[in-house]
Amino acid sequence: MIYRPPSEADSLILQVTVGCSYNRCTFCSAYQGKRFRKKSFEEIKEDIDEVSSYKIRRVFLADGDALSIPQRELLHILSYLQEKLKGLERVGIYANAKDILQKDVEELTALKDLGLGIIYLGLESGDPEVLKRIKKNATVDQLIRAGKRVKESGILLSVTVILGIGGIQGSQVHAIETGKVLSEMDPDYVGALSLMIVPGTPIGKEIETGKLVLPTPFGLIQELEMMITNCQFTRCFFASNHASNYLPLRIQMPEEKEEALKRIREVLRRKDPDLLRPEYLRAL
Ligand code: SF4
Repeated sequence: MIYRPPSEADSLILQVTVGCSYNRCTFCSAYQGKRFRKKSFEEIKEDIDEVSSYKIRRVFLADGDALSIPQRELLHILSYLQEKLKGLERVGIYANAKDILQKDVEELTALKDLGLGIIYLGLESGDPEVLKRIKKNATVDQLIRAGKRVKESGILLSVTVILGIGGIQGSQVHAIETGKVLSEMDPDYVGALSLMIVPGTPIGKEIETGKLVLPTPFGLIQELEMMITNCQFTRCFFASNHASNYLPLRIQMPEEKEEALKRIREVLRRKDPDLLRPEYLRAL
């Protein structure tokens, strides 16, 4: 199973690492049972050579945190992509805060100069308590610094947050703090997902034992409302159209913020389940 951001649906997925080097976030089942390893340059080269006759505009470097590859090797891969794929316009990658902070702005800029155009960073929550509970392996401060560093390098920053991950108990703080942290990062894109429980994950066990109680569908929409209310961006495309969400929205901020909030508040006022994406259409 290969994971990629929804916006990379048309990209060539080039697997340069297998799994995630951290692999301990309590909600994540993406790479369970996969032992992390970097692919050798020979393996990667072979894959690139195989598609070099195709017209490929975008490439996404998988898996979970491919930015953990040492700088010299990453430069080598990007150079080879540039050499072989003549129409290449953009390369994307998943990264965690530690991967980003291991590189300085100059190193990130060097990657950008070789085509790295977008970094996808999982914030999940701006609430320090939630980050600790889900074992995110990064503090709020590290996540903000990582996001700002990406922006400073000129690479596009896309940040993911998860509705419901604070549970009912932490819902309000999670929504407000996440909005504030996103504002500090000032990303180019935000993707809001809703927490979907995968059985067998540590968070799944918290749900089973009642340690964590998920907000209702309208509770998740209330979170979205609080989060967006607390978001102040220079220019950002905020999307909650991921398949896991009950209310799919695509908002160009700041222009469409008030209009979107009006729509969300109307849904919250009417509390009509027909206004929500049906359960059977929700998926990861
Ligand atoms: S860093 Fe990302 S891929 Fe790795 S375990 Fe956490 S959420 Fe999953």
